Amino acid sequence: MARSNRRTLLTLLLVWFLATVNMLDASSTLKRFEFRKVLMGVVARIVVYAPDREIAAWACSRAFQRIADLEDLMSDYRPHSELMRLCAEGHLAPFRVSDDLFFVLQRALELSQRSNGAFDITVGPFVALWRRARQTKQLPSEEELHQARQLVGWDKIQLDPENRTVKLAVPNMKLDLGGIAKGYAADCALKVLKRFGLSRALIELGGDIVLGDPPPNRKGWRIGILDEKGKPEKFLELTNCAVSTSGSTEQFVEIGNRRYAHIVDPRTGLGLTKLVLVTVIAKDGITADSLATALCVLGEKEGRKLAEAYGAIAFFRERDL
Ligand code: ADP
Ligand code: MG
Repeated sequence: MARSNRRTLLTLLLVWFLATVNMLDASSTLKRFEFRKVLMGVVARIVVYAPDREIAAWACSRAFQRIADLEDLMSDYRPHSELMRLCAEGHLAPFRVSDDLFFVLQRALELSQRSNGAFDITVGPFVALWRRARQTKQLPSEEELHQARQLVGWDKIQLDPENRTVKLAVPNMKLDLGGIAKGYAADCALKVLKRFGLSRALIELGGDIVLGDPPPNRKGWRIGILDEKGKPEKFLELTNCAVSTSGSTEQFVEIGNRRYAHIVDPRTGLGLTKLVLVTVIAKDGITADSLATALCVLGEKEGRKLAEAYGAIAFFRERDL
């Protein structure tokens, strides 16, 4: 007993000594590794600094698996995802969901309230009309928009934190987490890497980037802020935060000389028609991702106030089409 205590003490002393001379992190011996995988409809990319390839590959495979598991819960393309089951049954009785889904729903509703409904995950029926318009090159009719509107509105979702249940006010609602789930998934992936002791990491999921500690001997990760043509107009060195970009410049449908973006204005039910690209730097991925989408709808004046309220920084590039 005494001997094992002494051994523990010696080990602790050694750890303390190594830590003070900055050898535990062994920054200089860390190597850069990069892995990619298609997840959540985009190329997920992880850059990580690790002592060797084996540790890096194993940790990253667990991080990718975490993202894949979240996709299983939150996809609106997979008929059996937890989200889709909630949409099918949530109007009948309070529907119990996972911690992950509940957390994302909570954060989404909080942002809906603080953005006066600019961010609204109940826009699924409008998004479905937009997806059809992209194929047929025809805008939805007034009647179709009216029908869809009956299913939209964040006040139609009721959360019960005590029982972790969700109740939907009407049948046939379509919840769409496309504006928030990737940021959350990137946060979760970083947590997995940290559990393996790999905190010097960058996770990129489409336009959403989450950053851990910086690369060895650097102050931060060099992140390019894009101009509206998609070219970096300036670079920032960032750590332990998230950067998300949303906008109307990449995904849109052109009908009658107008562009309608994949981000929907919940007030009109139609895709945004202004050229807008918003980059948000916030404390974590779920905040940056959802804020970037909200700020596209709100525009610069209102958007800046909201970003400030979240302690985030926003870059706007905006003009009417
Ligand atoms: P991307 O998914 O292209 O990175 P965003 O994070 O801005 O871009 O998310 C856009 C997606 O969010 C849309 O494809 C749609 O699924 C969903 N969405 C569209 N309009 C809204 C809105 N007003 N509020 C919340 N989510 C929205
Ligand atoms: Mg977003």
